[in-house]
Amino acid sequence: MTTSKRILVTGAGGFIGGYLVKQLKQEGHWVREADRKAHEFSASCADEFSIGDLRDPNVVREVLAGVEEVYQLAADMGGAGYIFTGENDAAVMHNSAAINLNILECGVQARIRRYFFSSSACVYPKHHQLDPAHPICSEDSAYPASPDSEYGWEKLFSERLYLAYMRNHGAQVRIARLHNVFGPEGAWRGGREKSPAALCRKVAEAADGGEIEIWGDGEQTRSFLYIGECLEGIRRLMDSDFPGPVNLGSEEMVTINSLARMIMEIAGKQLTVRHVAGPAGVRGRNSDNRLIKARLGWAPSLPLRSGLEQTYSWIASQLPSTQR
Ligand code: NAD
Repeated sequence: MTTSKRILVTGAGGFIGGYLVKQLKQEGHWVREADRKAHEFSASCADEFSIGDLRDPNVVREVLAGVEEVYQLAADMGGAGYIFTGENDAAVMHNSAAINLNILECGVQARIRRYFFSSSACVYPKHHQLDPAHPICSEDSAYPASPDSEYGWEKLFSERLYLAYMRNHGAQVRIARLHNVFGPEGAWRGGREKSPAALCRKVAEAADGGEIEIWGDGEQTRSFLYIGECLEGIRRLMDSDFPGPVNLGSEEMVTINSLARMIMEIAGKQLTVRHVAGPAGVRGRNSDNRLIKARLGWAPSLPLRSGLEQTYSWIASQLPSTQR
């Protein structure tokens, strides 16, 4: 039987945080949410909901009061169109680092016992991800460091910050490097969406026989983790005695062109792909699940297609019927 805990989820107005709150409530915990905005797609089921800017230490002190554990998912974040163009670099680094610095420093006073920190596959060096067929993403390959984006550098800095606070202040931390999480109720338009959602939207909007655009030549590879397995991995890691950092991702690596084809098959549409210049990120990336299997005895296994079916049908349902 689970012992009920008092838990804070930061970034709960976002995609993964929103699902995590539901999961923790189902498990019987008392949950406070914190975000600067309410969730766009579903009503909160948390015991308390606090709207505020976590870059402000006064806000952070308030939301930490009386909780034992923190799941820290708040970050200035988006898909390639947000984090790889260079236009948002200062904001991404400043905002996310400020949130993590505040959470940990105020957490010492609040006597937080355990943290989950959502790091990213973007920490891995770009020179290990030049070959789309054989990217290297084992956890120990993160150093010597050379991430391809400032978003990745901030995650690497914050991983070290959490580990330093664990060493010097005694709280437990658990760190997962998430690899491209997708599913219903994630950003799907507006510039912060990631490739599965963006492609689902483009395919849903196109008339059969029409055309969609893909950034770059589409031969870059990635793997995509369905939200249900992301939650399962986070909860397993948090309940384990392993701090990480550990990859949490799928090992089903596909090119962006084949991802697009899979979505067209699900939609039952035949579309032409036009490749256009755009921020495409590293050439290859895949999760390496040896460590998670060894330490948690578990790894994601859901086929990409089944997660895409759920996601496509949700995104298509968000469009006005005239645009599907
Ligand atoms: P998201 O953008 O949907 O959620 C992040 C939330 O943080 C948003 O609701 C946003 O309003 C909130 N936030 C940002 N700045 C804030 C501030 N100053 N004060 C209060 N709230 C603030 O992102 P997500 O996809 O749910 O990702 C959650 C976490 O997982 C992030 O830390 C992200 O970097 C990490 N991650 C996600 C993925 C992925 O594929 N989704 C991959 C790797 C890592």
